[in-house]
Amino acid sequence: MLGAANLSNLPPDDLPEIAFAGRSNSGKSTALNTLCGQKSLARVSKTPGRTQLLNLFELPGRARLVDLPGYGFAKVPHAVRDQWGKMVGGYIQSRANLRGLVVIMDCRHPLTAHDQQMLSWVGGAGLPCQILLSKADKLGFGAAKNQLLGVRKALRDVPVQAQVQLFSGLKRQGVEEARSELMQMLGVDWCDRLDRPGRTPQG
Ligand code: GDP
Repeated sequence: MLGAANLSNLPPDDLPEIAFAGRSNSGKSTALNTLCGQKSLARVSKTPGRTQLLNLFELPGRARLVDLPGYGFAKVPHAVRDQWGKMVGGYIQSRANLRGLVVIMDCRHPLTAHDQQMLSWVGGAGLPCQILLSKADKLGFGAAKNQLLGVRKALRDVPVQAQVQLFSGLKRQGVEEARSELMQMLGVDWCDRLDRPGRTPQG
C-alpha cells in the first residue's frame, strides 16, 4: 500500500485507477475490503476523520484502488476541510488515469452536502460514478428499496453519469454487481485474483 499526503506524491499515472469516496463512517473501508476480498486491505476504523491521506492499493501491473479521505465529520477544523477540498477535488479533476468513482453513502442518510460536492466534481470531470447505498442490512427490504428509488430520482437533476445500488458489506449484498461495474470502469479484469468463497487466490 502507498500513502500520498498531497498530489505531488502520487505514483505515476501509468495504471487505471478507481477512487472510493464517502462520508466518515459511511462504511467505505468495509466496502473496499469486501469488494477486494482481502480483509487486510483497508483499515476499518471506528474513529471518523482520522486520515487525510490518499491511500492507494495496487493490483500489481493492472489497476489501483484509491481510498480518499472520509469527509463530513463535524469536528474536523476548517483548515483540514479546506485541505480536503483541495486535495480530493484536485485529484478528481486532474488525475489522468482516473476511470471513475465509487461513492459510498449510508443508505439511511444519502446525498449529504459533501456527497453532492463530490458528485459535482465527478460530473465535471466527465467520469462515471457508482453509488453504493451502504449498510442496506440496517433497513427492511421495502425501506431500502424506497431509499434506492429516492436517490435515483434525486439524481435525475444532477449532471453526473451515476448508477445507484444497494450494498451491505456485512451481508455481502450487491458485491458482484459493484465488482462488475468497477471492472467495466477499469477496463481490466481485476476480480480473477480475488479470494472469493470457493475460489483459490492466485499469484
Ligand atoms: P468508514 O469510516 O467509512 O471507512 O466506515 P467503516 O467501514 O469503518 O464502517 C463504519 C462502521 O459501520 C463500522 O462500525 C462498521 O462495522 C459499520 N459497517 C460498515 N459496513 C456495514 C454494513 O454493511 N452493515 C452494517 N450493519 N454495518 C456496517
